[in-house]
Amino acid sequence: MAEIGHGGKEIVERILGPAEAVAQTKGLKSVEVRSQIANEIIDIAYGWFTPLVGFMGKADLDSVCKKMRLTNGAVWSIPILFDLSEGEVSDNGIKEGDSLLLTYDENPMAIFEVEEIYDYDKGEMCQAVYGTTEDKHPGCARTYQYKDKFLGGKITLANRPKINPPYAPYFIPPLEMRKRFREKGWERVVAHQTRNVPHTGHEWLMKGAWFQAYAELSIEKPLVGVLVNAIIGAKRKGDYIDEAIILTHDELRKSGYFGDHNHLTSLTFWDMRYAGPREAIFHAMLRTNLGLTHHMYGRDHAGVGTYYGAYDAHRLLATVQDELAITPVYSMNWLYCPHCGEITSEGLCNHRQEWQMFSGTLIRSIVQDGVKPPRLIFRPEVFDLVMECAEKYGFGSPFVTDEYLEKRTPVFNIPPLSA
Ligand SMILES: [Zn+2]
Repeated sequence: MAEIGHGGKEIVERILGPAEAVAQTKGLKSVEVRSQIANEIIDIAYGWFTPLVGFMGKADLDSVCKKMRLTNGAVWSIPILFDLSEGEVSDNGIKEGDSLLLTYDENPMAIFEVEEIYDYDKGEMCQAVYGTTEDKHPGCARTYQYKDKFLGGKITLANRPKINPPYAPYFIPPLEMRKRFREKGWERVVAHQTRNVPHTGHEWLMKGAWFQAYAELSIEKPLVGVLVNAIIGAKRKGDYIDEAIILTHDELRKSGYFGDHNHLTSLTFWDMRYAGPREAIFHAMLRTNLGLTHHMYGRDHAGVGTYYGAYDAHRLLATVQDELAITPVYSMNWLYCPHCGEITSEGLCNHRQEWQMFSGTLIRSIVQDGVKPPRLIFRPEVFDLVMECAEKYGFGSPFVTDEYLEKRTPVFNIPPLSA
C-alpha cells in the first residue's frame, strides 16, 4: 500500500542494502558532513522531508523563499541546503553530474548526486524565511554560517545510523510510524512538538489537544493518540538535555498519566531554525509525513525573542490550510487555579486574580534546587527521572552545560560500512 505524504507524494525510503552500498560507493570522492547535514540526510532518506528527495537546487530554493512553495507547487517553508566552500569544491574537483560519498564520523553515510552548484544571497534568504536579516536571530546566524556554494541533488542513504541508548526505541521513521498507528487503531493522532521536560501544564496541553482531536469520534474503543515528537538537534547551553526530554515524556505514559492506548513518544532529527510562522508550517509537513492528522500549536510556536507575534503562526497556517493534510489544534494556556484546586484553562476558569501561571523559569529553578514540587504542578515520577537523567547523562545537571556538549554520547553514529 502506497503511503502518501506531504504534497500528495508517496513516501519512499531512499536506502541501499549493504551489498549495493559497498558496490555503489566504491571509488567515489568523499566529503565529511557536519551534524546538521547528517540529520537532514536521515530526514530525506527516511521520508520525513517528502516530497524532497535531496538537497534543494536554486529554483526550489528561490521558490521556497519567494512563494513558500517548491517548484512542483507543494507548500514548503524552510530551505534544505547542502553547502561547501569554493575551495572545497575546487580542491576536490567537484562538478555538476558527480556522485559524492558523504561521510559522517568518517564512515560512509550517503551518496549525493550533485546536479547543481550555485550561489544564493544569504541576506535575501534570511529576510524571506525569518523576516529579518539580524544575525542575532538563530536562524539567520545558521544561514550566515553556510559556506559560499550550495549543491543541489538527490540523496541515497548508504548506511543506516546506529541510534544510541537511550534513544533507539524513539527513532520511528515515517513508514514505521504509520504502521504503529494502524496497529494501535488510531484514526486520529495529534502531534505535540517539544523541547521541554513536561510539567502538568504541558501534560494538559496534550490532554486538551486529545479532547479536541477526539471530537465526534465514537468512544467505544480508543481511537485517538497523542504523539510526542521531540526535536533532537543542536543544543544550546541551558536547554534541557535530550535524554531528559525524551524519557520524561515517555514516563507520563509509563506512570499512567497516559497509556499505550493514547500516547507514544518519538523523535525527529532537526536543528531548530526558530522561524516562527514558517517553522510552524514546516512542523506540519514533517508530522504529515509521520502520519499525523492533527498538530498542536500554542502561542508563538517555534518563535524566538520578539520576532513574531503570538498568533502569526496561526495566521500563516490559515493561508495554506487547504493544502495541508494536517489539522491545527490551537491551544490556550493551562494554569493552576488554587480556588478551583486544579489545573485549568485560561479559557474556562474566571478566578483571574488567583491564577498561577506556569513559568519555565520557575520550573527550572525548582528543578535546579532539587526540591520535589507538588504533584499537581510536576509529576513526582517525572521529577525523579529528571534527577536520574542529570546524574546518568547530564554530568550532574538536567540542563546542557559545556561538559555535556563536549562529552555526551551522540544520539547516533554512522558505523563502518560492511556488506
Ligand atoms: Zn478557578
